[in-house]
Amino acid sequence: MSGDHRDYCVGCGEPVHFGSGNYVNRVPADGGFLCGACAEPIGYNHERTGDFYCDVCAFDHEEEIGNALLDLEQVYADDITEPQTCCKCSRRCE
Ligand SMILES: [Zn+2]
Ligand SMILES: [Zn+2]
Repeated sequence: MSGDHRDYCVGCGEPVHFGSGNYVNRVPADGGFLCGACAEPIGYNHERTGDFYCDVCAFDHEEEIGNALLDLEQVYADDITEPQTCCKCSRRCE
């Protein structure tokens, strides 16, 4: 083993060191880095209604949701214990 724990995504454990392919997309996180996939929210929960919107619909239906993104809470794969279903397109996010 070479390198330390900072060379691996704190979310999924994928390597994020230079040359790993995740290096350019990595973002600083608690105690290390997240790979691009883990840093991207999989969707959003509406703070008032609790509805789940996938990352696509959250933007596509921004006006309809109503001033939208201010009221939406980012949801990361790490945050959920079971798949969430988008209330617009029924896409399952996990
Ligand atoms: Zn990751
Ligand atoms: Zn959707």
